Amino acid sequence: MVRAAFLDRDGVINQKAPEGAYVTRWEQMHFLPGVAEAIGLLNRAGFGVIVVSNQRCIAKGLATMRDTDALHQRMCEALAARGARIDAVYYCPHDKQPPCACRKPAPGMLLTAAHDRGLDLAASWMIGDSAADVAAGQKAGCKTARVVAEGPAAASADAVPDVVASSLLEIVQQILERDRPGADGPPADAASPIAAGPRKARNA
Ligand SMILES: [Mg+2]
Ligand SMILES: [Zn+2]
Repeated sequence: MVRAAFLDRDGVINQKAPEGAYVTRWEQMHFLPGVAEAIGLLNRAGFGVIVVSNQRCIAKGLATMRDTDALHQRMCEALAARGARIDAVYYCPHDKQPPCACRKPAPGMLLTAAHDRGLDLAASWMIGDSAADVAAGQKAGCKTARVVAEGPAAASADAVPDVVASSLLEIVQQILERDRPGADGPPADAASPIAAGPRKARNA
């Protein structure tokens, strides 16, 4: 079965719009540094690359699904021209209420993609910049990573991701490092307190 990297869009692939605003037009889509390189690395490592994005702007009447599809088409073409292949884009067009199965933190988009494409969710990663992304990934049974730009640290009540870094590229590099044959978790010589703790306890 195929494994996937599920990518959130705004704040992972492209700059987020200011609070309360939405990226609905091509002119507003500004790729973040290293994104094409990161997606190219995922492609070559055999991950399906699947965008999963909440787009409440559609429910609010700020964009149509047709506009959104055209925007995503252009996004995929621009990335493909830079050697980065996105295999599919899923988005939730619904508002927060009434609750739907697809708006993250619900896992619906990941589950649908897995069903459509025969994905191995346990071998897949959800990479996002919000607690809702991490929660959706965990509910789908994926490993999770969170892009944390400068700013306030994530609230402690948030779901804890497996990997945290400041960009998609750094996260992908860490995922691929874990992926090396024989690299199951942290290296054996890692002297981190987390690695040492349980061993000490067993010896006591
Ligand atoms: Mg986001
Ligand atoms: Zn939805």
